[in-house]
Amino acid sequence: MSIRFLNPVLINQIAAGEVVERPASVLRELIENSLDAGATSIKINLREGGKTFIEIIDNGTGMNADDLDLCVERHATSKIPDNNLFNIQSLGFRGEALAAVSSVARVGITTRQAFMETALHLSVSGGEKSVITPAQSPIGTHITVRDLFYATPARLKFLKTTAVELSACMDVIERLSLSHPHVSFYVTHNERTLLAVAATDSFNTRLSKVISKDFGENAIRVNYHDDFIAIDGHISLTTYTTSSANKQYFFVNRRPVKDKLLHTALKLVYHDYIPRERHGVCCLFLTLDPSLVDMNVHPAKTEVRFVQSGKIRDVLLSVLHGFLREHPTQTSSHLSQAALEAFTPANTLVPPHYSPSVITPLQQRFDARPQAPTQARSSAQKNNAFSFTRSLSAQSSQTPSFSLQGNTALQTFEEVERNLENHSDNEVYAEEQSEENALAHYPLGHARAQLFKSYIISETNDAFYLVDQHAAAERLFYEKLKRQIDQREIKRQLLLIPEIIDVKEHVLKNTLAHLSSFKDFGFILEPFGVCQMIVREAPALLENKNIKQLITDVLDCFEAEGDTLDQHFLRSHILEKLSSIACHGSVRFGRSLSLLEMNALLRDIETTPFADQCNHGRPSFIRLTRSDLEKLFERS
Ligand code: ADP
Ligand code: MG
Repeated sequence: MSIRFLNPVLINQIAAGEVVERPASVLRELIENSLDAGATSIKINLREGGKTFIEIIDNGTGMNADDLDLCVERHATSKIPDNNLFNIQSLGFRGEALAAVSSVARVGITTRQAFMETALHLSVSGGEKSVITPAQSPIGTHITVRDLFYATPARLKFLKTTAVELSACMDVIERLSLSHPHVSFYVTHNERTLLAVAATDSFNTRLSKVISKDFGENAIRVNYHDDFIAIDGHISLTTYTTSSANKQYFFVNRRPVKDKLLHTALKLVYHDYIPRERHGVCCLFLTLDPSLVDMNVHPAKTEVRFVQSGKIRDVLLSVLHGFLREHPTQTSSHLSQAALEAFTPANTLVPPHYSPSVITPLQQRFDARPQAPTQARSSAQKNNAFSFTRSLSAQSSQTPSFSLQGNTALQTFEEVERNLENHSDNEVYAEEQSEENALAHYPLGHARAQLFKSYIISETNDAFYLVDQHAAAERLFYEKLKRQIDQREIKRQLLLIPEIIDVKEHVLKNTLAHLSSFKDFGFILEPFGVCQMIVREAPALLENKNIKQLITDVLDCFEAEGDTLDQHFLRSHILEKLSSIACHGSVRFGRSLSLLEMNALLRDIETTPFADQCNHGRPSFIRLTRSDLEKLFERS
């Protein structure tokens, strides 16, 4: 067959395969056009997940007759004013969306600009344009797309079920509505309203409406900028997680993107704090010089290419980590509510004042974090009850009431364990008596009792805590390990009997390349034999626990990740293994503790980041106030 040029409809249909793969991608293009046209109100009606019907009505600028005629032609765009691809302010710019959609579906466009006396209508079916006729319509543009892919049956077959297509459509709508809070969105599916959000100045309001009210209440505000990048938005507290990763909304220069680099960075940020199968939630806007990011990689514009991707990931990791660390204890609030509900008498006996309207103000009070004594809380400290502890320790030499006998309260749990043999029970008791008042001023108060050899009850002036000693000890161990690693002062121990590990040939190269990283974690590995490694030293903290298994597991991940494995992954994999060893190896569960030991553990918790949960995201303590108890017993 001789070479011929493709006809325009065919060209558009081929292009449509790239630009529009499903109803959601059509919808994205249409919404973006409306936003580019300055709309402040967008109404969307869908049927059958958008497969048979998509309608979008905006109040944007509209088009005149010439533009209406041109807009469905390929490479016709009003959005690259100075022919500079890297200076695009609008969402669209490829000038192919309407051409592509109207080559594979039945499209109707009705549009009206402010000064026009009537609206104008154009329809296009399978690439065939009608003549433009006058029509009735308010200012703005109204587009219908019927029977997507009717003209290309082969593609029609790839459409998924209504539910799947609908959820993809909603995902698109959610993302664009998050980046445009000043625009109202109203969405129906088969005549049922799915989303109705009014225009708002408050990003938080939009966040709560679109993602969930819960997220609005359990999110940390992130706000960072340097010469290179600005990062703005919200990330969830470590106790607020979801089962799927699709509640992670990223925007680059205000465009919604789904980018592996960004999602991976978020995974690494939360990795230490949440169970493996759970995911953090975020809504983050990254702003950087447009010349440092190529938004044009993907026809549907969801992928981006960063010029300095490594740098972006590093900044993101350290910034988000920083913000998470500033909020280490905020998480315990909703647990108190749950605990209180558990204590509340059975439903039939619920006293009248437990109606929801009374619970609400109560809940608000729970949301306040544990209160340290007010006199020592400067405004800089007020967001972090635990920074109070540290400043208290620093002040204790000058403040007589806190100069604790022998400084016992400031010893670490392990020091106390070690010294305990030197104390007689009577001495211990006397010390505790004299310290009680002082101890009550600590955020977690002084230990009162132990239950089931597993839980510590402690008391402050106005509240009591229930502490899961095992969960807390796990976190302490883990944070200590990380601190040693980060400060490059991990203590190693020579293995009396070195472990020999078989290494598969194809991961040997990677293993050898990462020997110095292993060393950073306290493992000295050397090649041995043909396909074997020998472990000569290991972190002293591990006390020889499961070292062989740990290294084998880590090497397995080399196999999964291949050459893409880098420092960050290695770190997170090793930490994950260490953390599960910490979890299983922790001896604190089911062990009687003296009051002295309990107090030392409490003091350790106070100064350890994220000590309100174990490495697997289980809470490690719960707080109830005196007035909660009074309410519970109907005293107030
Ligand atoms: P692009 O958005 O990349 O320019 P499209 O095919 O999506 O390409 O749209 C072509 C042109 O049609 C746009 O540049 C714009 O001028 C016009 N247009 C499309 N949708 C609208 C709308 N809702 N309101 C006003 N003008 C629109
Ligand atoms: Mg467009």
